[in-house]
Amino acid sequence: MSNIATYLQQFTSLKRAPGGVWGEATKNRAPHKPILLLAVLDLAARGGISSPFIDVSGDLVELNELFNHYWRRVVPLGQVSSIAFPFSRLDREPFWYLVSREDQAVTTSRINNTASVSYLRRYALGAKLDEELFQIIQTEDGRSALREVLLCSCFSPEAGASLAEQAAINAEAYHYSLDLLAKAHHHQPQVAEAMDIDAYKPPARDQGFRRVVVKAYEHRCALCGVRIITPDGYTVVDAAHIVPWCKSHNDDIRNGLALCKLCHWAFDHGMMGVSDAFAIIVPGRVAAAPNAPGFLTALAGRPIIPPADPDLQPATENFAAHRHDWRL
Ligand SMILES: [Zn+2]
Repeated sequence: MSNIATYLQQFTSLKRAPGGVWGEATKNRAPHKPILLLAVLDLAARGGISSPFIDVSGDLVELNELFNHYWRRVVPLGQVSSIAFPFSRLDREPFWYLVSREDQAVTTSRINNTASVSYLRRYALGAKLDEELFQIIQTEDGRSALREVLLCSCFSPEAGASLAEQAAINAEAYHYSLDLLAKAHHHQPQVAEAMDIDAYKPPARDQGFRRVVVKAYEHRCALCGVRIITPDGYTVVDAAHIVPWCKSHNDDIRNGLALCKLCHWAFDHGMMGVSDAFAIIVPGRVAAAPNAPGFLTALAGRPIIPPADPDLQPATENFAAHRHDWRL
């Protein structure tokens, strides 16, 4: 039987810097630590924390996206933070221990200077959690009790309610992404039949669709092949619909493509298409446009880069509908 009371107490009394920039919503103190912990709880709910160690060497996209969903709820627009900021400073709490790289040390000055994941990675491998806390966050009851104390102790009632709503959306998005995957794999045909897309809130649907599409393509643009993930966990790709959502109401992964910002724009404006043989089509009007980037025209005829898993590959009928709409 784990002693959750200890952790409830520790989560209630997080050391948070006071400051004029932080308003009522965050009880006039820095919100970084509780927001990162909310994201960690969600990541645990998604099976993303499988040992009492949170590694910072890999891609941090999901943790960063969860962090930012909460952050945008309570922090004025324009203020941003790297997840490295709270990730390092949580070392001052009794349940979170930074693990240093070989030949490096975790020092106060290094923690104070940490404002990016690249800097954090220079001296730390990740953070170790108390084994007991790790066991607690593997359970829904444990996570929900810890979430509750974070919301009550660190935020105003209004901000807490907004963050609770975001937590519910994040949970719904995860279930939606699992449903989309089950549907794509035909392992549970009854899921496809029973899936009622209108039962999901639009932001949960957007997040769930993005989660499966971006993962299926491993963050690579299906058209130009660019793949960039910043150390702080931002990825260059969007999850695009082949036939737009507004027309199709179709979040099937086979109606999805991971596309970089430029290819997404070009595809959505009919400046690029894809043939039945999965070859890129670039119409003459692109070449004729003044200052059209050469790399777009150079993509003509090249094969797209689909997901390795055939169940997740785009459906030719969706490309055909897109070509038809744009007379490609
Ligand atoms: Zn691209």
